Amino acid sequence: MRTVLTGRSLWLDQLSPQPQRPALNGSLEADVVVVGGGFTGLWTAYYLKQLDPSLSVVVVERHHVGFGASGRNGGWVVAEFACGLDKYAAMSSHDEAFRLVRELHASVDEIGRVVRAEGIECGFHKGGTIRFARNAAQLERQRQEVAHEHAAGFTNDDFRLLSPDQTRSIAAADGVLGGLFFAHTAAVDPGRLVTGLAAACEDAGVTIVERTTVESVGDHVVHTDRGDLRARHVVQGTEAYTRDLDGERRRLLPVYSRMIATEPLTAEQWAEIGLDDRPTFADDRYMVIYGQRTEDGRLAFGGRGIPYLWGSGIDPESEVRADSHARVDAALFELFPQLRGIGITHRWGGVLAIPRDWTPFVHHDPDRGFLAAGGYVGEGVATANLAGRTMAELITDADTQRVGLPWIKALPRRWEPEPLRWIGVRSSYRLMAAADRIEERGKTSRLGITLANLLRGS
Ligand SMILES: Cc1cc2nc3c(=O)[nH]c(=O)nc-3n(C[C@H](O)[C@H](O)[C@H](O)COP(=O)(O)OP(=O)(O)OC[C@H]3O[C@@H](n4cnc5c(N)ncnc54)[C@H](O)[C@@H]3O)c2cc1C
Repeated sequence: MRTVLTGRSLWLDQLSPQPQRPALNGSLEADVVVVGGGFTGLWTAYYLKQLDPSLSVVVVERHHVGFGASGRNGGWVVAEFACGLDKYAAMSSHDEAFRLVRELHASVDEIGRVVRAEGIECGFHKGGTIRFARNAAQLERQRQEVAHEHAAGFTNDDFRLLSPDQTRSIAAADGVLGGLFFAHTAAVDPGRLVTGLAAACEDAGVTIVERTTVESVGDHVVHTDRGDLRARHVVQGTEAYTRDLDGERRRLLPVYSRMIATEPLTAEQWAEIGLDDRPTFADDRYMVIYGQRTEDGRLAFGGRGIPYLWGSGIDPESEVRADSHARVDAALFELFPQLRGIGITHRWGGVLAIPRDWTPFVHHDPDRGFLAAGGYVGEGVATANLAGRTMAELITDADTQRVGLPWIKALPRRWEPEPLRWIGVRSSYRLMAAADRIEERGKTSRLGITLANLLRGS
């Protein structure tokens, strides 16, 4: 088997040469300063210029556009909140939470609209998501989930159960007992999306500076290693890397996810596997896995390996260690044993962020001129669009449905100090893996259900 180890993602490796943007050169003033050149920061900048072209907007990025999770993810443009609707309903009302989820559903089409309008070639295709049920417990959970979603007001056009034959007609995964189809997902090459979005921002007049580290964020000011930026509004879109900002180490938990990409499959292999409409795919184990058929005919596939490093650590070297990818390889070949022996051309990893209450947020403090969004729990590609659009509307006082949505709230409370974080996260992942093993043996695991609920604080 031919293997290329790389620290960059498939997506970043395949990009055409990108502009080298200058670093900040001395202090500057702007109407809005955005920290972070990922989806959250860039969507905010993009919509600000759409809403008010006269605004001066500067995006500050420590490395390069798309360096973070936005350039490394699974490319699921998925309209899902990890915490589900109920958490937001408890904070507001069922109707408000339902409205929020519908706005997220619409964000997938909104991204498709912008991609077309701006001519961003990123393989965007809305083929939904198929989740396989590969043991009795997963099948039962899917049945309960669809019943729950339908009771909340969604329909078969959103979530629907599939028979084993229907599931297999979409993808020939091994050991399938049934499946769940979720309609509001597109597959995309996130590297081309994030860099195309950056170019669209610049075309609209946004300034992007790279290789500039923000050290702290104050009221109407951002302190960097290359000067201060003063602004009426400061937007923070630093997700897992928020831990590097002064005083923010415990705000969001950085959790690793790792990915691989295969060499392009042959037409015969695809004829056997399916995924013709490029639905993104997963099964329903607790230790999340996710995959997509890429536009150029590969499988890009990921899963959570060693999830958390002491002290909310982020360690680029650990992202490419072959042993940390062993579980990801194993999970892919377990799903598609017919692919054993295929070349893996790319291995990489990245960090996503989990807030203490597992609830993605938008935060707005008008007195401080401060906005932030994140805590997407690994489902940020579509969510960052909604967050960025909302923050741009809050800044410009736009009167839209989105500026009153219930996820606009206080910043999440901080995680516990070490060693509690390390013990808590490591042991809960061990327990989830144990729950998966119990379920693979054909049993139902209360352990997994209890744990997943506990972790989400529900
Ligand atoms: C391996 C992996 C797979 C994933 N798969 C999916 C998926 O399929 N679908 C999905 O919806 N979500 C997925 N996610 C999550 C998704 O990628 C993120 O939620 C989303 O990209 C977050 O965007 P962001 O802009 O908020 O953060 P990021 O993309 O992480 O961007 C933050 C940026 O801020 C910069 N920055 C941070 N600190 C500073 C500083 N102090 N000074 C200057 N700049 C700074 C960083 O360099 C970075 O570029 C995945 C994540 C990972 C890691």
